[in-house]
Amino acid sequence: ATETESAHAALHARHRAVLPDWLATYYARPIELTHGEGRHVWDAEGRRYLDFFGGILTTMTAHALPEVTAAVTEQAGRILHTSTLYLSRQAVELAEHIARLSGIPDARVFFTTSGTEANDTALLLATTYRGSNQILALRNSYHGRSFSAIGITGNSAWSPTSLSPLQTLYVHGGVRTRGPYAHLSDAEFTAACVADLEEMLGQASGTVAALIAEPIQGVGGFTSGPDGLLAAFKRVLDRHGILWITDEVQTGWGRTGEHFWGWQAHGQAGPPDILTFAKGVGNGLSMGGVVARAEVMNCLGANSISTFGGSPITTAGALANLGYLIDHDLQGNARRVGGMLRSRLESIAAGLDIVREVRGRGLMLGVELVEPGTDTPSATAASLVLEAAREQGVLIGKGGRAGNALRIAPPLSLTVAEAEEGAEALAAALKHAQSTMEGTAV
Ligand code: PMP
Repeated sequence: ATETESAHAALHARHRAVLPDWLATYYARPIELTHGEGRHVWDAEGRRYLDFFGGILTTMTAHALPEVTAAVTEQAGRILHTSTLYLSRQAVELAEHIARLSGIPDARVFFTTSGTEANDTALLLATTYRGSNQILALRNSYHGRSFSAIGITGNSAWSPTSLSPLQTLYVHGGVRTRGPYAHLSDAEFTAACVADLEEMLGQASGTVAALIAEPIQGVGGFTSGPDGLLAAFKRVLDRHGILWITDEVQTGWGRTGEHFWGWQAHGQAGPPDILTFAKGVGNGLSMGGVVARAEVMNCLGANSISTFGGSPITTAGALANLGYLIDHDLQGNARRVGGMLRSRLESIAAGLDIVREVRGRGLMLGVELVEPGTDTPSATAASLVLEAAREQGVLIGKGGRAGNALRIAPPLSLTVAEAEEGAEALAAALKHAQSTMEGTAV
């Protein structure tokens, strides 16, 4: 083994010895990233990769974006003192900005340090406001890893406990590739999901607090119901006074191209009661938050404080990052380059037996994989493609209830040339995985 290989093996052994067994890592030989620039990252062994996953969508604009680095460095050189006990100019400015962008009238913003904490807070607000611990969630959902967020995660692979403080009622609507409604048209699917929601509400005893939904399910494999489904749900929720929480942790900030927020694909629904965000806003800094109209945000009857939420350093970085995103119309870029990438992936998929479906919008694209020539989901295919894509110099993600979906979510500044380069590499990786599965690999 070379020196770098031995160093890598030693680090991997130490990682396994001291970190929990349940922490997921990608690749048989996990990657140690050392630096990045633009849409590329480098590992400790000096290999360069085109980053088509951006740390699960956290790299929103670009790696090592000079504007963000400058804002963070400047702030770090002044003061790192944090806590909501003192006023922060950046936190107020960022909150004003996000309140305006949210589309929620009379919006209040609370900053957290993660998506999990944002959803946890949204659940605290909704359950308190409604006086109920019953929550509606979508099957195949993922909302985080805290005790309460696990309780609304409809994917057993990511739900290590069933002892949640919440009572969760799971409804259809997140995934339509498979399941009892898979063969229906958009209108029929929507009607079936609404009927399912109404049936669930009929079974619920007492008040239901809220429905929480990812407009496009992230960990679930970039799946979603038809546009307008959440508007149809909203009409039912309104009859019962049930709140609507939109989890925009993956779908926010223009990633879906056509819309700034995922919920806007269901525009007729109007703004949600509560919106949660995280990931991309900090471009890698631990930043998340909750937006809600004042009446809902202010329903808590005791004091609260956050030591790290909205700290000067994360808010300075997020302000610079969001400013760059808007000044450079990266939402428009996600629409244009994402649309092109999707067509390329569709034509690649047309010649392959392991691809069941290409889906998603903007720069949030999913590829569902099956055993060649069948309809059986294949997690093996997804792992093979991930490894082969890495060999080709491209990092992607995977997901889906059966672990058989590829997730493609590059930084939103992706260029056309980089999209082409990534598509070529993915075509080679998909072909390699298919031949391996068919036993014809050479
Ligand atoms: N909600 C969604 C939709 C997510 O994808 C994730 C993270 N994958 C979370 C919440 C939790 O965010 P975090 O990992 O920052 O706690």
